[in-house]
Amino acid sequence: MRTVPDFPEPGVLFRDIMPLLADPVVFAEVVAALAADAPGPIDLVAGMEARGFLLAAPVAMALGAGVVPVRKAGKLPGPVASATYALEYGTATVEVQPFTVPDGSRVLVIDDVLATGGTAAATVDLLERCGAEVVGLSFLVELGALRGRDLLPGRAVDVLLTL
Ligand code: 5GP
Repeated sequence: MRTVPDFPEPGVLFRDIMPLLADPVVFAEVVAALAADAPGPIDLVAGMEARGFLLAAPVAMALGAGVVPVRKAGKLPGPVASATYALEYGTATVEVQPFTVPDGSRVLVIDDVLATGGTAAATVDLLERCGAEVVGLSFLVELGALRGRDLLPGRAVDVLLTL
């Protein structure tokens, strides 16, 4: 993993996971570990745009589950359900196609990095409004100092690496 100062903007210390995914052995180990930690049977794996997609699809395959993309606003043809959350400056919106999330489906949410938790909390809210049961969230990396877990009280949060 690389640590890149001032990306994507000044003052941000960005953890670049791409070298891990580019290594076939490490990529396979990451996918296997995320799948092994899944809390019980999973119907759908929801991956957050865009690096979450790279992990959600292979984990879904490993679990025999389907995959649902959680996308930034305006990327998915409707109907969509959306959730808006606060950023340091402004807001962001995430969307899913609710017809891809059957009522009561057991959903595992996957992303590369848990930072402040805003994206993950909005994703949980969005999927549950669509009728899902979010049974857990899994991340490759948790940035512990940012306390993202505080926005996910009572949730099963699994991380492979805490920085
Ligand atoms: P949060 O909403 O938890 O603050 O931010 C999480 C989202 O931003 C995730 O979708 C994640 O991909 C991205 N993100 C935030 N910080 C980093 C970082 O240092 N490295 C990477 N790879 N992604 C990050």
